Amino acid sequence: MTTPQTPTTQPPTAQTRQPTQAPQPRLLYSTWSPGYVPQRPEATEADLDAAAELLRGRAVVVLTGAGVSTESGLPDYRGPDAAPRRPMTYQQFVADPGFRRHYWARNLVGWHHLTAADPNESHRALADMERDGVVTGLITQNVDELHTRAGSRNVIDLHGTGSRVVCLRCGRLEDRAHLGARLREVNAAFLARVEELGDIEVAPDADAVIEQTADFRVLGCQHCGGILKPHIVYFGENVPKERVAASYEMVDGAGALIAAGTTLAVQSGLRLVKRAHRAGKPVVILNRGVTRGDEFATALLHAGTSRALRHLQRALAPAA
Ligand SMILES: [Zn+2]
Repeated sequence: MTTPQTPTTQPPTAQTRQPTQAPQPRLLYSTWSPGYVPQRPEATEADLDAAAELLRGRAVVVLTGAGVSTESGLPDYRGPDAAPRRPMTYQQFVADPGFRRHYWARNLVGWHHLTAADPNESHRALADMERDGVVTGLITQNVDELHTRAGSRNVIDLHGTGSRVVCLRCGRLEDRAHLGARLREVNAAFLARVEELGDIEVAPDADAVIEQTADFRVLGCQHCGGILKPHIVYFGENVPKERVAASYEMVDGAGALIAAGTTLAVQSGLRLVKRAHRAGKPVVILNRGVTRGDEFATALLHAGTSRALRHLQRALAPAA
């Protein structure tokens, strides 16, 4: 079983070049390092059961990323199927009025995609796990609030939410829907023109691609006229200190961590995985493809989040 299969058609010289390929472990202490990308087979039912046993009897905190929302029609920046795309930075947004105009024009058109998205099986399974008393808290890198809409209660929106905007001068918050109504009012001609174009690409932060936004009118804070920014943590921006502290506290209070649907490419998520790992807590990483946190995982599950999370939910649910 450990012998690599050698095709009979191979010339004899190939025998010496035969890679010493160990059978791919499905549940492992990772040996991943940059440059070595293991081909992980799809997690089996037995793999999922083994992960459930690691979590059994422990208070579980879950960290989620874009991968849990892809089934809701919200594309993933970094998943295996994600198109390469440069994310917007905080510096761009603050420094360039033209960039902001372009941003808000795209955002206004793409917004209905976000508000139209519904929670999927991943969100529902996690909400059920909280009701079962298995999951004690959820930390999400997503800004779509689908966990809350699915019924999860103890949720930290690590990177903020798309449903509010913040004034960069006075700090006041405004509902995104309220700002949307204001923007639509002063941009009726623009929106009518865009509607004719049809077909719009959506990105995770509700961007939609529009070529021409020159005639779009941007609005400032109703109170002080300051620049309004989505209440979202952008690349180049730090997660607010108190939110970081709350997420640490949540992980410290738990007995295990699941990271689901995230490549852990950003520090704000990765450091939670490291923290749980350092404390000797089981870390289950559930993602299609390699993550930056694989070396800290007790179990790596290559699987779709909906199937795997529902499996874990059923395996860990208290007996009726
Ligand atoms: Zn203001």
